[in-house]
Amino acid sequence: MTGCSSSNMRKTSRPNTHRCPANGIEYRVVSIRTIAHHLKQPWRWDIGARSFFYCEDPDCEVVYFADDDSVITKSEIRTQVGIKSGSDDSFLCYCFGVSKADVLQNPSIKEYVVEQTKQGL
Ligand SMILES: [Zn+2]
Repeated sequence: MTGCSSSNMRKTSRPNTHRCPANGIEYRVVSIRTIAHHLKQPWRWDIGARSFFYCEDPDCEVVYFADDDSVITKSEIRTQVGIKSGSDDSFLCYCFGVSKADVLQNPSIKEYVVEQTKQGL
């Protein structure tokens, strides 16, 4: 233990993290749906029974990688801009810059965003 305060870093029997083949840093598992949404040609990518992981390093060419060390690089991703600036679940709303932590501290922010969105803002 190194005093990490994050409770989701605990080791389990299932591999929730995997090392990026390019930079060797461990990253968290990501849902297949997220990957398919970002891929240029998702139908050409054989998901199989693999788990996929998301490399957050902005300097790393690898965006997603599987537990068999196959990789999806930036060139295979549709959304070039912003994909490395934040994972899908770290921001609830990109337009207003509202993060999950903000909403936890102040639930009315969520209402605010919903209201603004209704008004077309
Ligand atoms: Zn990487």
